[in-house]
Amino acid sequence: MGDRLYGFDMSETFDAIVIGAGVVGASTAFHLAKLGGLKVCVVERGQVCSGGTAKSCAIVRTHYSVPSNTALTVRSLAMFGAFPDWLDDAEADAGFVQAGYLIVAPEGDFADRMRANLALQTGAGAETYVVSPGEALEHHPLLTLDDAALIAYEPQSGYADPYLTTSSFLRAARAKGVVVKTDCPVQALISTDGRVTGVRTAHGELRAPLVVSAVGPWTRALTDGIGLDIPLEVSRHTVLTFKTAAPYGRDLPVIKDLTTANKMYFRPASGGVVLVGTGDHGDPVTDADAMDENVGDDFVLLQGGQIGHRMASFAEAALSASWVGAYDITPDWNPVLGPVPGLDGLHLAFGFSGHGFKLAPAVGLALAQTALGQASDVDITPYRLGRFAEGKLLTGAYGVGSIS
Ligand SMILES: Cc1cc2nc3c(=O)[nH]c(=O)nc-3n(C[C@H](O)[C@H](O)[C@H](O)COP(=O)(O)OP(=O)(O)OC[C@H]3O[C@@H](n4cnc5c(N)ncnc54)[C@H](O)[C@@H]3O)c2cc1C
Repeated sequence: MGDRLYGFDMSETFDAIVIGAGVVGASTAFHLAKLGGLKVCVVERGQVCSGGTAKSCAIVRTHYSVPSNTALTVRSLAMFGAFPDWLDDAEADAGFVQAGYLIVAPEGDFADRMRANLALQTGAGAETYVVSPGEALEHHPLLTLDDAALIAYEPQSGYADPYLTTSSFLRAARAKGVVVKTDCPVQALISTDGRVTGVRTAHGELRAPLVVSAVGPWTRALTDGIGLDIPLEVSRHTVLTFKTAAPYGRDLPVIKDLTTANKMYFRPASGGVVLVGTGDHGDPVTDADAMDENVGDDFVLLQGGQIGHRMASFAEAALSASWVGAYDITPDWNPVLGPVPGLDGLHLAFGFSGHGFKLAPAVGLALAQTALGQASDVDITPYRLGRFAEGKLLTGAYGVGSIS
């Protein structure tokens, strides 16, 4: 008999183990149970949605310059739009607000690249088109757009609630028999003869012929142990919220401002505030668990100035909240998805580089389909681990950053 923890026999055998209860792990576990009828165990070191997903701005947009990213988001958008049906749970709620998305480019290079990207996205099934400043103002009357050379609009995009999305996936997964073990850190992957056979946790071993690792910035702690050298950098990003006397409307479109050096974005957040983030590299950190939570005055002034430039009514806005979160960044700012050559049964999902929330519904579906040997709605082979050694990087048109 193995140890018993919270009523679970810790030597139990499953069809599949998913490590990590962020949005990617939750979506993957749900889809493994839904599509394959598998007996799945999700193993989480802390609590549900306690990693990068908890810090996410959860913006959902289709604007990308790598076609497969747009294809994944188009698939995700359809799932967000039919969340209770897709999850077979009438009460499932992603908190998705279809507020629309406006992307603003300055004159020159960015505008040219954006124009080319719009054609690419339309080809990948996204609804997006150029709008005039006047039309943009009809969607978002608070904007100042004097310096905008090109503006594109996505009517179907918006933002969601990261905790609701993750917990809805897991609730629906549990209804399909998935077991979720929290406070249960995985210490090592276990393998025999080139095949993964399970995981060793702080409370005992769990066995399964299929293991999906979805532990974001913490991936290397597991892959180092099997001698796999993965390309992964971790960086710290700061999110601020600002408020004015007038509540910021929850249906105002998300804004991406490519005129700013740090590729600022902003969107409505609860409490009538505006939530402001950046799509740049951020500050490199060695440990995602030991990030400096202090937010410097210089950064607040910079973001406050940029938001005041884009919305004059925010020139005197007050800072209302701030937090930091970790990006798990790969060399091409796109995730690694799928099997690990040389170790059968192990599948990885990491390196979402600050844009994985919106991809997660479709990524979980595609990972499950791939692991089950089913035809995948979106081909994830471009995201294979081997692409870095092959020199087949998924490099975006805007250079380094989360719009890849
Ligand atoms: C500030 C910020 C803003 C963002 N904004 C957006 C956005 O607007 N739109 C967008 O699409 N994306 C955004 N992202 C990115 C997106 O949130 C992430 O890519 C996504 O949430 C990653 O989900 P995940 O499940 O891979 O990782 P995580 O949510 O980090 O989940 C990994 C889980 O694994 C657990 N874990 C780690 N090690 C172990 C172990 N050894 N054993 C067991 N469990 C373990 C962790 O506790 C954690 O719960 C943002 C990210 C940040 C930080």
